[in-house]
Amino acid sequence: MPEISRTTVYRILETFARLGVVRKAGHPDAVARYESRTSRHHHLLCVRCGRMEDLDDESLDRIDLPGRETGYRIEDYSIQFRGLCAKCANAEGRRRAGNSGDKRRGKTR
Ligand SMILES: [Zn+2]
Ligand SMILES: [Zn+2]
Repeated sequence: MPEISRTTVYRILETFARLGVVRKAGHPDAVARYESRTSRHHHLLCVRCGRMEDLDDESLDRIDLPGRETGYRIEDYSIQFRGLCAKCANAEGRRRAGNSGDKRRGKTR
């Protein structure tokens, strides 16, 4: 959008961040970069609202790493789970329940 200056965009984003509409970037991208937290940990990412949380799970710290055939010597990794956060999942559930009109019966996935 050439008619909007970069400064304006940043100002808008700042406002959104203050209102909690968006979360300041940093963490999502930080997965690939360096985080202040250096110990191995993983991430939960909400595809709806962009919320990202750190996740500690010992079992994820012990997965088989890609082997020598990749040509890489793996030094570290971080697993990112994508889905809906509790808040968004709730909203989704309520929306579905509202649409169907009655109680959800059984566990269909
Ligand atoms: Zn969410
Ligand atoms: Zn993290």
